Amino acid sequence: MTMAVTAPGGALRTAIVTVDDDPVVSRAVARDLRRRYGEQHRIVRAESGESALDALRQMKLRGELVAVILADYRMPQMNGIEFLEQATDIYPGARRALLTAYADTSAAIDAINVVDLDHYLLKPWDPPEEKLYPVVDTLLETWLASDHRPVPETKLVGHRWSARSFEVRDFLARNQVPYRWYSADEPEGLRLLAAADADGLTLPVVITPDGEALVEPSDSELAGKVGLATRPSASFYDLVVIGGGPAGLGAAVYGASEGLRTVLVERTATGGQAGQSSRIENYLGFPDGVSGAQLTDRARRQAAKFGAEVLTTREAVGLEVNGSARTVRFSDGAAIDAHTVILATGVSYRQLNAPGVAALTGRGIFYGSAPTEALSCSGHDVFIAGGANSAGQAAVYLAKGAKSVTILVRGPSLRTSMSHYLIEQIANIPTIAVRTCTEVIAAHGRDYLEKLNLHDSTTGTGETVDARWLFVFIGAAPLTDWLDGVVLRDSRGFVVAGPDLSVGGQRPRGWQLDRPPYHLETSVPGVFVAGDVRAESAKRVASAVGEGAMAVMLVHRYLEKL
Ligand SMILES: Cc1cc2nc3c(=O)[nH]c(=O)nc-3n(C[C@H](O)[C@H](O)[C@H](O)COP(=O)(O)OP(=O)(O)OC[C@H]3O[C@@H](n4cnc5c(N)ncnc54)[C@H](O)[C@@H]3O)c2cc1C
Repeated sequence: MTMAVTAPGGALRTAIVTVDDDPVVSRAVARDLRRRYGEQHRIVRAESGESALDALRQMKLRGELVAVILADYRMPQMNGIEFLEQATDIYPGARRALLTAYADTSAAIDAINVVDLDHYLLKPWDPPEEKLYPVVDTLLETWLASDHRPVPETKLVGHRWSARSFEVRDFLARNQVPYRWYSADEPEGLRLLAAADADGLTLPVVITPDGEALVEPSDSELAGKVGLATRPSASFYDLVVIGGGPAGLGAAVYGASEGLRTVLVERTATGGQAGQSSRIENYLGFPDGVSGAQLTDRARRQAAKFGAEVLTTREAVGLEVNGSARTVRFSDGAAIDAHTVILATGVSYRQLNAPGVAALTGRGIFYGSAPTEALSCSGHDVFIAGGANSAGQAAVYLAKGAKSVTILVRGPSLRTSMSHYLIEQIANIPTIAVRTCTEVIAAHGRDYLEKLNLHDSTTGTGETVDARWLFVFIGAAPLTDWLDGVVLRDSRGFVVAGPDLSVGGQRPRGWQLDRPPYHLETSVPGVFVAGDVRAESAKRVASAVGEGAMAVMLVHRYLEKL
């Protein structure tokens, strides 16, 4: 089988597939096709219907285009019409022609109806200039006239109301991995599942650009297959940054650019909370705003450009002090040693504790994730729980497509929790309504969210509303229990640093150095903290980035005295 994959320029070439069980005839057809079309097209040759179908399935998974399929009629096991019938299931848009002997003309005519045949060619086809090429030219022209775009990127076949399908979508989007979504109950989704030999009961199925099918992959399996680094290249670094939000990315950019051997470890996807923001309007240098995804993409590329290693799907679960080394441990038991550590683990969404919510998360109820789901809720009524800036931004963003957006706020007004500019924007969008003193007390739905029970605290009354979408932004908490007993944290789990550690002029317990802790240094020398996870931090993108940069400056100071 001919298997040249790309054209000289690197672009995928459209294929012409030919199948004939007689090797001599098969080679002759392929030779004639290559002579005329080989520059522009890939000629794929097979000697049985089964092997041609295998080739078509692989090409489908790799996202390649097939323009024309030429099949011999008289083949053992599977004749040309049976083959074309199955090939059409895989590539419905490809134009089809049957090669027949004169005696089989009537079968070929019948096939015009059975498989919607475009043409039949009588053997022998000599001279090809007169008998073969005009037919193939017409088939190619017809094919080109329709809209066919190659899909060389990652393909994701899932179900709209499958929680794991949503998680994988979100993971790919947040890691800036280009992908195309196919619903498992639409024709092209079904074709991809069939090509991957997947039953469609376990979803999602991810098909990598190389054509490998992964059924319900874990984040780390997926990361490895779509080109995201998951393992460190060395065992010792100058600096390990934990957390890939603005603070961590800032630290990685400054650390690597200033010559520190730097590795950044991120549990899910770089960008952190900011990566989920549809539009950050108060970050210096972006007067028209910038989406969290764009900012993350740039920061990540900048960190890589300076030589920082960025690992995704690696969660730090332990921090140890081993002499002058600081050891960061992962859940699989692996570890990295470094001279210094910057903790930049931010905060995570607080869960909405109401009956039914957990079961419907990912199936109509989402934490953050407004940008990922925005398209799906076009034309629908959407609810948002929360009254802070994140909720306001999501409302403005979702209102572009949704029929209506209702913000449910527990307090009596947005004024104490949301920036003035966002309150004004919301007031000027007629499809956004704000319901104050209201909270969600239960969620209902069989396969997906169908209804919400709301409670109005001023009247004490309850109400049930039809709801397909609920986005939850009800605050966040640091997830720092894994640091317990190692670095000092406040009662809410935020990491205490610098002057805040010296209560009444006393150094923190266990602190043995002559000097006091540096500004962003924690109770463990050489371990610094930056961004939202720091006690008393500003909870802003700019301050997180600034603290990341400042922590690196203090890392240098620490290393000089090591
Ligand atoms: C929707 C939304 C909109 C916002 N809009 C704005 C805005 O317009 N302007 C503004 O200034 N601020 C905004 N904020 C706040 C801003 O995004 C945060 O202040 C900022 O992201 C904090 O950055 P950070 O790096 O400290 O933490 P985070 O952004 O929380 O990032 C922490 C990262 O650490 C990772 N992590 C956590 N634990 C571990 C672990 N154990 N191992 C490995 N990785 C770990 C997390 O997965 C996460 O990626 C918004 C927040 C949200 C949620």
